[in-house]
Amino acid sequence: MEDCIFCKIINREIKSEIVYEDEFCVAFNDINPRKRVHILIVPKKHIPRVSDISDDDELLMGHLIKIAKELAVKNSSEHYQLVFNVGKEAGQIIFHVHLHLMGN
Ligand code: 5GP
Ligand code: ZN
Repeated sequence: MEDCIFCKIINREIKSEIVYEDEFCVAFNDINPRKRVHILIVPKKHIPRVSDISDDDELLMGHLIKIAKELAVKNSSEHYQLVFNVGKEAGQIIFHVHLHLMGN
């Protein structure tokens, strides 16, 4: 997807601190962290919002949560928030689905 910052990060056209990658997703540190641990878990598939996911994306979305859990353990974060902002009014600024992992 052209002009999508997160697609560019996935394709290494924009630099970021990638902390995890597999066939389905990439995880990188948020550029403006709001907690000690603030990682974005991002599917490689360009889906603008959670409200755009289809039945086919069910496993993919579960996978994001599983990876978030593993990254929390890796970063010694026991108590954390997992957040999807859906839509501009809810604070979504990047229209490529991403799961925020935020913990202290
Ligand atoms: P949203 O508000 O869309 O749920 O969250 C987007 C997040 O992406 C924000 O927390 C913001 O700090 C982060 N972000 C925006 N641009 C970049 C970037 O170029 N690199 C990284 N690593 N994070 C970004
Ligand atoms: Zn994208």
